[in-house]
Amino acid sequence: MTGDTLGLLLNIDEKYLSFSLNGECLPSYDDLFQYSSGGYFAAASFMSYQQCEFNFGAKPFKYPPKGTLFKTFNDYGTMTDEEKKILPRHMRLNLIKNFQVNEDSCTICFAEKASHKLVPCEHGGFCFKCSLQLETCPMCRTQIHERVLSESSRSRTASDSAEDQSADKDT
Ligand SMILES: [Zn+2]
Ligand SMILES: [Zn+2]
Repeated sequence: MTGDTLGLLLNIDEKYLSFSLNGECLPSYDDLFQYSSGGYFAAASFMSYQQCEFNFGAKPFKYPPKGTLFKTFNDYGTMTDEEKKILPRHMRLNLIKNFQVNEDSCTICFAEKASHKLVPCEHGGFCFKCSLQLETCPMCRTQIHERVLSESSRSRTASDSAEDQSADKDT
């Protein structure tokens, strides 16, 4: 509900998570620890019109955890002022728009050209280096038997070398 405060206490030593809603404890939750033992990040998912404000300890908690000692994320984490800035969606999208990514870049590393496709599924968009690190296609999960030069990049190299030859003739 609008204005609600959701609290989260993460107790890694005793392996449990405890949420509270406006200071009222909700049942504690320990399933998470069956799957992972570290590397936790704060995250929340929203519908496009929803929003919330995170408080990692920059301000005193409205409903601090009761009956236990605790530290805030801010007691541990260090971030530069630049890293602390989270832009509203429309500004972030604008930034991304101005950041040019070549359309024929490898969809995994974005550094090399997408030159190869996978056999037998024929999915492409990878550079050779990245394709070698794949065992199954990231799009359809088909086992990869071969990585071959895709047609578009084969014709590109063909025309490139044609240009080279004509350039040679001119000189
Ligand atoms: Zn790549
Ligand atoms: Zn595939």
